[in-house]
Amino acid sequence: MKAKIHFWGGTGTVTGSKFLLETAKHQILIDCGLFQGKKSLRLLNRIPLPLDYSKLSAVLITHAHLDHTGYLPALVKNGYKGPVFMTAPTQALTEIILRDSAKIQMEEADAANRGNYSKHQPALPLYTLDDVEQTLNYILDCEENEWISLAKDIKFRFKRNGHILGSSYLEIDISDKKMIFSGDVGRPESLYLPSPSIPEQADILLLESTYGNRIHPETSPKDQLEDLINKTIQRGGDVLIPCFAVGRALEIMLLIDALKKENKIPPIPVVFDSPMGTEAIEVTSRFPDWHKLNKTALIDLNKEVYFVRAIEETFSIIDRKKTKIVIAGSGMITGGRILHYLKAEIEDVNNLVILPGYQAEGTRGRALLDGEAEIKIMGKFYQVKAEIARLENISGHADQEELLNWIAGFRFKPKEIILIHGEKDASQALAEKIKAKFGISVSLPDLNDVIEIN
Ligand SMILES: [Zn+2]
Repeated sequence: MKAKIHFWGGTGTVTGSKFLLETAKHQILIDCGLFQGKKSLRLLNRIPLPLDYSKLSAVLITHAHLDHTGYLPALVKNGYKGPVFMTAPTQALTEIILRDSAKIQMEEADAANRGNYSKHQPALPLYTLDDVEQTLNYILDCEENEWISLAKDIKFRFKRNGHILGSSYLEIDISDKKMIFSGDVGRPESLYLPSPSIPEQADILLLESTYGNRIHPETSPKDQLEDLINKTIQRGGDVLIPCFAVGRALEIMLLIDALKKENKIPPIPVVFDSPMGTEAIEVTSRFPDWHKLNKTALIDLNKEVYFVRAIEETFSIIDRKKTKIVIAGSGMITGGRILHYLKAEIEDVNNLVILPGYQAEGTRGRALLDGEAEIKIMGKFYQVKAEIARLENISGHADQEELLNWIAGFRFKPKEIILIHGEKDASQALAEKIKAKFGISVSLPDLNDVIEIN
């Protein structure tokens, strides 16, 4: 078998995942993500893919996060009319995420045109809600473990990997070769997801490396939250938690709920301000086979947390000067309702901003983590006076040790590993460890590289 992999995203960065697998007769795109973060990366979303759309046989999606699905509507807009395979929960979440993405883009284009702060005149969204609705028609849901044949000698299946609801790694057999695309690998001890399953074997493993240079500390996120929340309440401040609406938000709410029930924090209001996140939690309740929460856990949460829908409510919550905990999207503060809270609250030393997720280069979240003195929101600069804290150990990504353990769990070790989905330092550190521990050859492709597989 001869095949090639084209690396069109998710290389040297954690966003924009797009890998084209090309054989003599077929082209298959694995993940179709949006670039996020640094402007130089975001601009890549505007460059058309070097793709003959008529030759693309299928798109396979590992999970619903925007950096793995967010380019799908652009693909369809540009002429793709074939199947897009994913698991059923991924499909349900993707619908929500893509609609939200289109709405944000349309709003941003509108705002830029009104405020005249775009260099492109007029500013145009990458795609619209109509493009998203078109795209959703092409999605086909697959059962976990079910082999699907794309051709006589090409088949694939999804196996869960514990990152978010429905997330999976992909096993792709092309004639006599087995390839595994890891997707984003979750952690063994998630609060609500089963541990990642471990492949038997692979000739080639494409492995994510988001935290390839990091060991998550032993700190319990619950203890850390208790400490941070109590300190902030004592000084009369608010707790703001920018959070990935899909996945992390649920974990944080479960932790806070547990702290309240155990009387470890006072019974102050908890607000979840993410219409998308609220829908995602409803999706979670529809797929009990994909998570390990008991039936009442999600119903309980509805009693304990105030779920905000309309934006008018956001403003009235901000106006109410009562101590509160606010969890809102987006996780890297690149957009979403959290921006309104930060505008109103980041210049107050009593408040606290807790960052629970990965913060990519170029995002406001990263700027806060790096201790920047001011951040720009909607065209205006704000002094960072609130306390900034990173919530350790709540990541949805396996760390270096957990990734190495995942590889160690293969019954037959992969013959070759290609590291993707990581910033350069992270991928390089993981590559060194893999070579030293397993003696497996590792490659680190750059954006737009092509690797031949024989
Ligand atoms: Zn992800």
